[in-house]
Amino acid sequence: MTQKLFVERLHNFIGGAWVASTGADHVALTNPATGEPVGSCPVGTSADVDAAVTAAKLAFPAWRDTPVPTRSRYLFDLRNLLEQNFEELARICTQEHGKTLSESLGSVRRGIDMVECGAGMPSLMMGKALEDISSGIDCIEQRQPMGVFAVIAPYNFPAMVPLWFLPFCLATGNTIIVKPSEQVPFSQHFVATLIDKLKLPPGVVNFVNGGKDVVNRIIEHPEIQGVSFVGSSKVAKIVYEGAAKTGKRVQALGGAKNFIVVANDCDWDKSVPNIVESCYGCAGQRCLAGATIIAIGDAYEPLVRKLKEEIGRLVMGNGLTPGVTLGPVISPAHKERVLAFVELGLKEGATLALDGRGATVPGLEQGNWVGPSLFVDVNPTMTIARDEIFGPVMCVLRATDLADAMKIVHAQPLANAASIYTSNGRTARDFVKEVPAAMVGVNIGVAAPMAFFTFGGSKGSFFGDLKAHGSDSVSFYTNNKTAIYRWH
Ligand code: NAD
Repeated sequence: MTQKLFVERLHNFIGGAWVASTGADHVALTNPATGEPVGSCPVGTSADVDAAVTAAKLAFPAWRDTPVPTRSRYLFDLRNLLEQNFEELARICTQEHGKTLSESLGSVRRGIDMVECGAGMPSLMMGKALEDISSGIDCIEQRQPMGVFAVIAPYNFPAMVPLWFLPFCLATGNTIIVKPSEQVPFSQHFVATLIDKLKLPPGVVNFVNGGKDVVNRIIEHPEIQGVSFVGSSKVAKIVYEGAAKTGKRVQALGGAKNFIVVANDCDWDKSVPNIVESCYGCAGQRCLAGATIIAIGDAYEPLVRKLKEEIGRLVMGNGLTPGVTLGPVISPAHKERVLAFVELGLKEGATLALDGRGATVPGLEQGNWVGPSLFVDVNPTMTIARDEIFGPVMCVLRATDLADAMKIVHAQPLANAASIYTSNGRTARDFVKEVPAAMVGVNIGVAAPMAFFTFGGSKGSFFGDLKAHGSDSVSFYTNNKTAIYRWH
């Protein structure tokens, strides 16, 4: 059953009420698989952000004083609402983004994981204490919420990414403004309707729709304490620099070009499907997607042969159709960008072993289709080996040994995730120790840290200090206060 997503004029959720954007313009959005209209997103304004900050600031003192277990209880309720609406949220996600329903279900599950983890805040937020640091003097270090935070999200995980932050920010006692991606605002609109049902004090959670103008106002607004950003490295750097200039805390998770190293001693039958899923899952639009595969020594020939066979089994189509394993890319503009990389790879001298240009799905010709593409004979200095393509395009390189592979990986500007496929423990250990990426998989193609572990990359893939999820997240949203007591 196709769901009707159309929301005539998507509203913001500010101060506990649904309010129209002050912006006059709306951008029409379509289902990437069918080309059908799904609704429109307002081009938000500074005034929208200002209204949300006013509401969030007003809500902060009482929310800060709300006992931590009470704050956590709202997350238990949110978790239950998300469970009850699990499939509906996933279907919205598929229809606005294009990924398959099973990929959407997986991402919603990961979002719920965050809510469950954040509900443990009474334990997570505990400080430290030491009796008698000097004679008759005790010391207590405690974590305190800071005020208004903002979350800025990318398009590739419409339901999940804001949930990387919201539960932790909320349960630590801060108030929050979420700006969903203007390309996929409907999953978060649905999450906002669930949050509306929680009957939180007005202004504790706010949703403001829009693009660049909204982001720029968030960056400069003097009453926002910190920003959690996820998106491309180019914008992550803009947000990091701009928000830091106005004294904010920033965690800016940027783009990726993830390397997968394959040794000939890997378990081929298990490894190859896993590598293909990493690279082509979500049509390559995952920050943890494998993109550049480095075959060590004589692994190259069997790897390319087996990859071709496995990629040939992918089924492209509408993500709501059972059996489909490869959805469209997000937009016609992104399709053009991905295809331009394919042309560039050919110009750079790589061999296009599988050509996804011109691919389409019968009956869905209006979709943003890019068929699975495979470049072999790729040189590490080629742009296609270094730049983020963010589409279903895999590049295969050769390295003589692990040291040679590591030299290639170290020369790259981005370092989000990396994986190795091997059955040799020592090879795996050396890889984990030396690889610059901060999320590392051993015989795992999508090395996604779960809610209770730190999530975020290195080098050009991350700007900031404290990363997302787990204990870093608790630290990011709190200020440590140390009190030293003496009673006469
Ligand atoms: P994007 O950088 O274009 O947009 C991200 C957010 O920034 C959006 O909310 C958008 O409205 C805003 N924005 C866009 N251009 C802006 C500008 N010039 N000034 C101010 N704000 C601007 O990213 P995207 O295309 O939506 O998402 C894909 C990117 O996100 C990929 O690079 C992917 O690797 C990355 N990503 C990273 C992670 C991670 O954990 N590191 C996770 C998911 C996605």
